[in-house]
Amino acid sequence: MTLADARSTAGDAPATTAVAPSPVPAPGVRHGPGLVDPAHRLRRTRRTEALRAFVRETRIHPRNLVAPMFVQPGREGREPVGSMPGVMRVTPDEALRDARALEALGVGGVILFGLPAAKDAAGTGGWVEDGIVQETLRRLRDADLDLVLIADTCLCEYTDHGHCGPLLADGRVDNDASIELFARTAASQAEAGADIVAPSGMMDGQVAAIRDGLDDAGHADTAILAYAAKTASAFYGPFRDAAGSTPSFGDRRGYQMDPANGREAMREMDADIAQGADMLLIKPAMPSLDILAAARARYDVPIGAYQVSGEYAAIEAAAERGWLDRRRAHTEAVTSILRAGAGFVITYAAADLAAWAREAR
Ligand SMILES: [Zn+2]
Repeated sequence: MTLADARSTAGDAPATTAVAPSPVPAPGVRHGPGLVDPAHRLRRTRRTEALRAFVRETRIHPRNLVAPMFVQPGREGREPVGSMPGVMRVTPDEALRDARALEALGVGGVILFGLPAAKDAAGTGGWVEDGIVQETLRRLRDADLDLVLIADTCLCEYTDHGHCGPLLADGRVDNDASIELFARTAASQAEAGADIVAPSGMMDGQVAAIRDGLDDAGHADTAILAYAAKTASAFYGPFRDAAGSTPSFGDRRGYQMDPANGREAMREMDADIAQGADMLLIKPAMPSLDILAAARARYDVPIGAYQVSGEYAAIEAAAERGWLDRRRAHTEAVTSILRAGAGFVITYAAADLAAWAREAR
């Protein structure tokens, strides 16, 4: 029924009630047709792009972006990841080339994930001195780049079963053995040049074990970015394609958080801060904006968010079909993550976003 129909069927009813008056008018606000409170014309500051840019509350700065890198052995190798357009698996020499390009764009840092030549039950490739991440870190460090070097500290990329640590006889991940190996991995990453180690395995006590391991190895200045609130998310799918880390049996719900639990996320963050985390990471990002905002209000440590592979791939796939404007969608997604409280965002769109940010008003 149109408004005209409504009026005609209403007979004698006055045709002046298109906007129903609020039952309890706010003080100072006039109501009724044709009357707008002159103090509340919010559209005034949206009129031109200059005005919009002038009052914009959140901007993407290249320094707030971190680019993930997948590194594998070899030379001059670049292999596209099918489920993540624009993302490559690269050899250490190519990683250095990419890192120089990111540095030129003003990106804040990189986070490294390794694809080792061989895997075993304990994930030995994660901590050996000639590990793929260690080799790449040494190259990046020696190039003296103006980038923060972050190493993902976990074993799922290095175990032949794809879980985040060694297994008990019954197939569960051995929490306490895993955190000892995480400490060893972190120390070897710090030795190779990591400024920050980022434990992502969601094992209890991992931050304390890593802090001890780093300090004992003479790396008291290496910071810990704890993946404190990491849910067992459906949005990690494309990453496992990139890193070859799909568990060969079961899933990670026995150690990653249930995405339904916001209060438990706060307990995870409390625990990590108590154990010595220098900064917190929340993952995935857009499905966790409420957790991010709550964490920003509660803690005074730096907080970042990881816009994960599925969040990136969903935008890319829709843009490829012409269903979304790629630049606007990526920009809006990361802006919303920053607005919710992230100080930095790990994103596969880091290079594009940094380039766009330099053009933005
Ligand atoms: Zn893992």
